[in-house]
Amino acid sequence: MKTRKKPASQKARGQPKAKGQKARNQMSKGPRCPACRSSSAVYRGFRHNAKSKKQLMLCRKCGRKFTPDDGFLRMRFRKEDIMEAVYLYSKDFSLAEVQKRMERKGVKVSRWTVLLWVRKYGKRRISI
Ligand SMILES: [Zn+2]
Repeated sequence: MKTRKKPASQKARGQPKAKGQKARNQMSKGPRCPACRSSSAVYRGFRHNAKSKKQLMLCRKCGRKFTPDDGFLRMRFRKEDIMEAVYLYSKDFSLAEVQKRMERKGVKVSRWTVLLWVRKYGKRRISI
């Protein structure tokens, strides 16, 4: 069976009018500056601490630097490690087992911290 040709009208779907709207949508998607709520921020390298690396943004409007909130703002550990611990716990590992597994990976974390993560992030759908 031959595949039907697509109508030409579907092919040419360039909509020059939607340009302005598209730009607005993109802007609202970007992280907003916590100080002035402007979304005209640019990437400005990374911030490091003992355990993780976070993206830094620079607001072009007020000149402040900030870290976009990805749900893991102010967490000391790496997002991946937190997600893994929560995932393991959701697979019926005990807190002690999760702790052991994390320690084998080189992530030293207390059981109570794991429990805290589970409480904070456990309700989300986790996909690894
Ligand atoms: Zn700003």
